[in-house]
Amino acid sequence: MAETIGTDVLVIGGGAAAARAGLEASSLGVRVTLVDKGKLGNSGSSPRCLLGIGAPLTLEDSPDAFYEDWVRVGCGISDQPLIWECASGAAANIHQLLESSLDFARERGGKYYLYRGAGHSRPRNLTIKYKLPGTNLMTVFGNKMKRRGARILEGVLITKLLRTEGRVNGAVGISPRGEVTIFRAKAVVLACGGANRIFPCTPGWIRDETYRTTGDAFALAFHAGAPVIDLEFPNFRESPPGATRAGGKYFNARGERFMERYDPIALEKAPRQLTVSAVYTELKEGRGPITWHVDKELLERDPSMSARFGQRRKIKLGIEFQRLLGGVRINKRGETDIPHLYSAGESAGGVHGADRMQGNAFLETQIFGARAGYHAAKLALRTGDADIDMRQVEEETARIKGINGDIRPSHITKEIQNMMWGEVGIIRSADSLLKATAVISRLKREQIPKLSGKKLFSAVECMNMLLTAEMIIHAALKREESRGSHRRKDFPGQNDTDWQKHIAIRSVDGKIAMTTIPVGQRGGRSDYCLTSPCCLRE
Ligand SMILES: Cc1cc2nc3c(=O)[nH]c(=O)nc-3n(C[C@H](O)[C@H](O)[C@H](O)COP(=O)(O)OP(=O)(O)OC[C@H]3O[C@@H](n4cnc5c(N)ncnc54)[C@H](O)[C@@H]3O)c2cc1C
Repeated sequence: MAETIGTDVLVIGGGAAAARAGLEASSLGVRVTLVDKGKLGNSGSSPRCLLGIGAPLTLEDSPDAFYEDWVRVGCGISDQPLIWECASGAAANIHQLLESSLDFARERGGKYYLYRGAGHSRPRNLTIKYKLPGTNLMTVFGNKMKRRGARILEGVLITKLLRTEGRVNGAVGISPRGEVTIFRAKAVVLACGGANRIFPCTPGWIRDETYRTTGDAFALAFHAGAPVIDLEFPNFRESPPGATRAGGKYFNARGERFMERYDPIALEKAPRQLTVSAVYTELKEGRGPITWHVDKELLERDPSMSARFGQRRKIKLGIEFQRLLGGVRINKRGETDIPHLYSAGESAGGVHGADRMQGNAFLETQIFGARAGYHAAKLALRTGDADIDMRQVEEETARIKGINGDIRPSHITKEIQNMMWGEVGIIRSADSLLKATAVISRLKREQIPKLSGKKLFSAVECMNMLLTAEMIIHAALKREESRGSHRRKDFPGQNDTDWQKHIAIRSVDGKIAMTTIPVGQRGGRSDYCLTSPCCLRE
């Protein structure tokens, strides 16, 4: 008999967005349960990635300037109300993080070290000193939540959202051995990251199963009927990270500073998709290897970078996948299109549009984590319990039990990753995308029915990754233009007349259906109190 856990707010995930959502919800006195398939503070992208966070903090900067950069870099398809929440709330958020005992790197003279990250028109990125003991954001927030009575469950993977009368009212989770837990909740926050494993070219640590995300949020939302938008936009970056942060120049094997050809004004500080596609093109056209010539002076101003790169002055540059830019459609309260379902962080879409400025992903986890947690808790306070539909639980239990073949998930995962990099990577075309579609159909027909359930989490993740890949390919085929990080060889130009809009994917009878929806326009004030001491104080 499956255990049932009743809660007011169920938070799915254990990264920066989930921790912030749980913390905010718990500050309103509701019962909060946070469920992480890994370990809080040691799972997802958040624990290893907090290199940069953007906020307008100088006299030369302002929320409006930040907002304008964001619109420009997102190539006109970031939802404006969402960006405004971030741009106007960023500085207050930094103060809240400082109050919460986190700290940021300083220059040798003691001033906070602010750098101009990729895509920004001025210096506004801080670096979290996340390696200091006790400053793992998720652990700090998790401990505060626990002191307020929140429950944190680790090692439980949510496989399905439950619905009743048109709204979400809980979820089904499994342990690695397949034991089922039913969660009954008045509101659910989906904050379980993106799909950082979908391409093979990721930092080594992402291959470690404790840190990987596998499109679970997109699959959960899809099956619950919530639209997922902008999945055709991937976010790659030059690697090693920090090349843009520490300054310096990129050269190809001919000794050319090739960024002069791609963006003569911003050069290496150009929006990420531009530098990445420039590096990719140079490599593809045989002008590699690419080297980053370090700016000695800038490196010395940045203690953590100089510690990392030491006396090295020329570093070989490659390309790494960071995240997908799209996700579950939300509004500025973090509400999705399905009542009682909220989303934040990498799970959510509409914030970045077609490209992302450096440091804005972490910011997004805090801005929308806080809003989703706050509004979910407010809703829970005025909502009664709804009975769980046990038929949905039984169907899900049967689906999980049915994973009992002999093909290892890692085998299929590798095929998905190779197909994604080969056919759906930095430059795509109808031909390559149709090839990818054929691979997906074959995997679904021949391999998925024989998937082994010995490593149950990996098996479920593999299916979620396959569905995510399929959604990406559908959207990439539909968007017949190049915009931001979506580059089509057969449609090289940006076409605002036809395509300045989102592609939304939702499930219709379990099949992928696509529509286009307009980009959200700015208007109205935030209904989340930016100046309140809110959740972060004891
Ligand atoms: C290499 C790299 C460098 C980066 N550098 C920066 C940077 O400098 N600045 C910046 O702003 N951003 C950066 N980012 C992006 C940023 O780190 C992420 O976007 C952000 O941390 C995502 O936070 P999140 O809480 O949404 O998801 P994550 O931190 O990925 O957390 C997802 C959580 O959900 C859990 N989970 C997943 N599925 C389930 C499920 N089915 N059931 C239960 N739990 C589940 C996971 O275990 C994990 O705890 C970087 C990303 C990468 C990969």
